[in-house]
Amino acid sequence: MSVALSEDRSVQFADVSLEYPSKTGSTLAVDSLTAKVSGGKFVSIIGPSGCGKSTLLDLACGLLKPTQGSVLLDGTAVTGPQSSTSMVFQEAALLPWRTVLDNVAFPLEVNGVRRSERRERARALLTTVGLDGFADSLPSELSGGMRQRVSIARALITDPALLLMDEPFGALDQQTRSVMGVELTRTWERVNCNVLFVTHDIGEAVALSDEVWVLSRRPATLKARVVIDLPRPRTEDLPLNPKFQSLEAEIWKLLQEESRAMHLSTSST
Ligand code: ADP
Repeated sequence: MSVALSEDRSVQFADVSLEYPSKTGSTLAVDSLTAKVSGGKFVSIIGPSGCGKSTLLDLACGLLKPTQGSVLLDGTAVTGPQSSTSMVFQEAALLPWRTVLDNVAFPLEVNGVRRSERRERARALLTTVGLDGFADSLPSELSGGMRQRVSIARALITDPALLLMDEPFGALDQQTRSVMGVELTRTWERVNCNVLFVTHDIGEAVALSDEVWVLSRRPATLKARVVIDLPRPRTEDLPLNPKFQSLEAEIWKLLQEESRAMHLSTSST
């Protein structure tokens, strides 16, 4: 395990609201949300569909500006995309004509890092994500899970203090997904960064995280912060642990309340 990330490295939502303007009437997606992750924590964000989870990630990486309040990265207001933040999406979005190694090294190439150094760092990260031996393969020669491991390596190559992940395993089958989850926690334990991980899968959130933020139905508010005090390293048999099951049930109940309230409010209009 690496040395813990300093408590100063943080992302903080301070009374954040976000309203999307539109010609037909604006949409309030996030309402006065206050929350913080620091010191190299893994936080999952879960909430009803359309509640504002992806919007929170867009705010964290500076793609959106809050309508009210502020987003602070390491204590400084975020005003646009930051080099210390990386993002992984549901689709790996690799460059198909480039080898795995050159895909992973790409962000360093953009930053003007010399070839030998970027290739060396890319090779080290391929080892971290278990893709030794695939450096010269093309993305089309890999499985979906392997492609997503390449995109995680690419996101980590800039040594980010904050990693944002939006349903990164959403396109994978359940078995691959749980293997990838355990692999991700092992990779994350070797790097130093805070993670905000959006998922709709309660078991995945519990298995990976130090904390789970449960959001309300839209507009998103922080309904609950559930601390996951399960030991690390996490293993694939964790779902058999009674503590895991009770945390999963607690979050399920919180989400059910929101889904029921959402259903009632839409069926009464
Ligand atoms: P989630 O990730 O939880 O499914 P999102 O953050 O994508 O939810 O969206 C939250 C709400 O904001 C939804 O009602 C969605 O329709 C709305 N929304 C998202 N993006 C835009 C946009 N660019 N313009 C207007 N409304 C948007």
